[in-house]
Amino acid sequence: MIVLGDEYKNEIKKILGEDSLRYEEMLNDEPYRGISVNRLKTDADSLLAMLPFGTEKSPFYRDGYYITGDTEGIGKLALHHAGAFYVQEPSASSAVTLLDVCPGDRVLDLCAAPGGKSAQIASCLGGKGLIWSNEVVRSRAQILLSNFERVGISNGVVSSCYPEILCTRLSGFFDKVLVDAPCSGEGMFRKNPAAVSEWSREHVLSCKERQLSILDSAAAAVREGGILVYSTCTFSHEENEQVIGEFLSRHEDFEACEINPGFGRRTELPCAVRITPLEGGEGHFAAKLKRRTGENTRFDRPAYGSIKRDPAVALVRKELEEIMLELPCGILTLNGDKAFILPEGLPDMSGLGVIRGGVLCGELKKNRFEPAHALFTAFSPSMFRRVLELTLSDPRTGEYLRGMEIDCDLPAGYAAVSIEGMTTGFGKCSSSRLKNKYPKGLRNL
Ligand code: SAM
Repeated sequence: MIVLGDEYKNEIKKILGEDSLRYEEMLNDEPYRGISVNRLKTDADSLLAMLPFGTEKSPFYRDGYYITGDTEGIGKLALHHAGAFYVQEPSASSAVTLLDVCPGDRVLDLCAAPGGKSAQIASCLGGKGLIWSNEVVRSRAQILLSNFERVGISNGVVSSCYPEILCTRLSGFFDKVLVDAPCSGEGMFRKNPAAVSEWSREHVLSCKERQLSILDSAAAAVREGGILVYSTCTFSHEENEQVIGEFLSRHEDFEACEINPGFGRRTELPCAVRITPLEGGEGHFAAKLKRRTGENTRFDRPAYGSIKRDPAVALVRKELEEIMLELPCGILTLNGDKAFILPEGLPDMSGLGVIRGGVLCGELKKNRFEPAHALFTAFSPSMFRRVLELTLSDPRTGEYLRGMEIDCDLPAGYAAVSIEGMTTGFGKCSSSRLKNKYPKGLRNL
């Protein structure tokens, strides 16, 4: 049973007014849960028809759904392994709706782990443009990378860098920047009741200082005419309206964008929306700003163009042609023994804590090429020469996801494994068997 302390009760009353009593009652109801559909892999109709739990459309995002049924073991579902959807608290999807990402945009997600909003952004980009996802905490950046691979992002960069360093170097480069800031987490109370006793005014104020400092850094990365969206999963005025107010007062090159999102509750700022359990989400605040004046930076010369002539790159290209019917767009390059396909127009990434640029294709091991899992998940089955097509009802699907060797009637060589038309991994075929290459850390136990 969640019981609020008097200090917090007073705070929430200032924000929700008469609704605060209803909010308090709702704190002991079950939290909302949701998913967002990954259009890089599937579409909503196909996915919803296959899911083993009930769903209902959420108002916060065009591809957002409430989960209405039991979701035990959701991470073990074949459709989850295939990257068809991302589990996301429904109101958390609202910030990307405000960001209004279009194919071809260059987008920075500055506080990105574990990656729900990056997955949404990539889905909206549809493989065109760039998603640069940064997470300052290195161990969390690895989780972000793993989610990048699962949802099949080919036009992205994952880094673990301090916001001020990253945004100064990439000054004026991004059309859209998202700051989904670390916060006091009042929107997590139902999911994590322990957070109630951890709440304190001191924490709220220290979060506010950190949020302002991240936003100050983020400002530089937005190009002239570009959009900056700030979001938190907390309700406090200090971490939301006050942060936006103080940011605007010290950045005259930014202005508030009036929004009419069609969801949530209005705030005292026309550029912002607040979502509480009363509006159908666990809790989010999002504000939309525009940079009126500034730089507009391009990196038109491929940063790694010269390496293309390297004989080792030629070898990798030949190996890739053995595996794929067509080579994906991008710049094939080697970093040490590892081969990558980089999106066009990237800056020099050195010193920016980049842990993945583009798609990791594989590794050269004593002149032998070993393809990487990420090469397969990033591209559709139609791009591969050999594809083992599995369905949800095929017993080999579960066996593959458990790491077992399975029957496979394909010519010898590396083959993509698709589940319901979504590339999920790969294996090596020989003598009518598929040697399983699904990464050990991802397998169902
Ligand atoms: N956007 C993510 C998503 O949708 O999955 C959630 C981001 S979470 C609310 C905020 C993130 O900011 C955390 O991963 C946290 O590690 C990171 N963070 C913490 N301190 C930070 C700082 N000083 N600068 C930038 N990011 C920070």
